[in-house]
Amino acid sequence: MRSPQHNMQSDTSSAFNAEQIDQTFGLEPVFEPGGDQRLAPLTVWLDICCPHCWSSYASEFELGIGAENRIEDCPQCCGPIQLNFQAEAEPDQYRLGVERAY
Ligand SMILES: [Zn+2]
Repeated sequence: MRSPQHNMQSDTSSAFNAEQIDQTFGLEPVFEPGGDQRLAPLTVWLDICCPHCWSSYASEFELGIGAENRIEDCPQCCGPIQLNFQAEAEPDQYRLGVERAY
């Protein structure tokens, strides 16, 4: 035989727990602001090997514009270098063509 006192205790306990859970979930933020993983750097630095003097230096390329073709002078020998930069669909994957510009 169950005593009325036992049932009352059980009901009170479960109701209290449900209220606690509800409060906990209501107060906690669902999303962290600023936690967007898709925030990537806008530029990337790649090593360029000069086709004139074979020295290497770092050059900056813009991401998000697809392909970038430009001519710049080697900081060592001032030789003109044609750079063909292409960002791949995969993150951190780039295609870079380096050749003499004359
Ligand atoms: Zn050079």
